[in-house]
Amino acid sequence: MNFINKENHTFTFSSSNKSVQTVKSGDTIVFETYDCNCNQITCDSDDLELLDFDRVNPATGPVYIENAKPNQVLKVNINSIDLQGNAVAMTGPGFGVLGDKIEKMTSNVLKIENDKAIFKNIELPLNKMIGVIGVAPSGDAIKCGTPGSHGGNMDCKIIAEGASIYLPIFTEGALLSMGDVHAVMGDGEIGITGAEIGAKIEVSIELIDNLTLENPIIETDEAYYTIASALTLDEAYQVAVENMFDILLPKCNLYKNDLVMFLSLAADIEVCQVVDPLKTIRFKIGKDALNKLNVTNLL
Ligand code: CA
Ligand code: ZN
Repeated sequence: MNFINKENHTFTFSSSNKSVQTVKSGDTIVFETYDCNCNQITCDSDDLELLDFDRVNPATGPVYIENAKPNQVLKVNINSIDLQGNAVAMTGPGFGVLGDKIEKMTSNVLKIENDKAIFKNIELPLNKMIGVIGVAPSGDAIKCGTPGSHGGNMDCKIIAEGASIYLPIFTEGALLSMGDVHAVMGDGEIGITGAEIGAKIEVSIELIDNLTLENPIIETDEAYYTIASALTLDEAYQVAVENMFDILLPKCNLYKNDLVMFLSLAADIEVCQVVDPLKTIRFKIGKDALNKLNVTNLL
């Protein structure tokens, strides 16, 4: 078993980052992760002036995958997410959707008990998910707080136990990193955080040849999702929907217009987050709908 300690973390996705471990296709790896503030906040607080913003959004890694090459795809199966300790939620002026309505930066600690997160005595069912997961991009380094074609800070609720994410590979070794686990989060993440928490994430990885993707794709038991990030949600959904259309068209027996109509009837645009430097959309097609097109595997 490969275990990557949380001290081995980075604040960027970059082809020039030095890898902390080498693994191979088929391996299982446990990534121990800090929360999105490197566990700097451990109590309810109405004074977060001391928060060091140079230490936000760490991602554990990067891990070098032997024989991984550009234009292949890295499939990451998320086997389990074990939460470590308590979670913390935060918000402040200038952050998120409602940042102009509040005067102070504050935090609340959420205890995790019996598969619930307790927010001010309100029990919320867990929806454990990975906020940041990705590979090195093709060009300049990208901060872990920004999502993109390489993955990164997608803050997508569907990236959870049992799901698989397919990431386009841009550099030799792929350089996989992840972090920013949330115990609970709503679509949009409107206040700028989920219930931020450290974790141990067990994944198994697989290199896929003869497949090139523009953007990440998620697979769950029920559905496939194309994922896209852009400055606006409008631009993001345009890319996510086009990616799905382009992948599906050669696989199904529908003419273009009919496929557009089918997607209009059967597929869903959903919002991942609206608070990061780029916004993220996912476009969902159910496997039952794909079966009706006689498409058993989207990829
Ligand atoms: Ca995040
Ligand atoms: Zn987060």
